[in-house]
Amino acid sequence: MAFCVHCGQMQNDGTRFCRFCGGQQPGDQLIARLRMEAESIRYRMQQMQAQQMQAQQMQRSNYGQQQNQQRW
Ligand SMILES: [Zn+2]
Repeated sequence: MAFCVHCGQMQNDGTRFCRFCGGQQPGDQLIARLRMEAESIRYRMQQMQAQQMQAQQMQRSNYGQQQNQQRW
C-alpha cells in the first residue's frame, strides 16, 4: 500500500501516477536513493560510535598507565 505524495490518497503499490490528482509518485529509483542515503547515514553513525569507543579505550589505557607510574 502506498499514499500519494501530493494529495495523500491511497494508491496501489507500484503506481507511477496518482489516480486522484495525477501527481507522479516516487519510483523505485527515488526509494533506492533514499535507502542509500539512510545506509550512508547509518554507516557514518557507526563510524562515529567506533571512534568514540576507541577514544574511550585510549583514555582508559592512558589512565591505567598513569596509575602504574604512580605505583612505581
Ligand atoms: Zn494524488
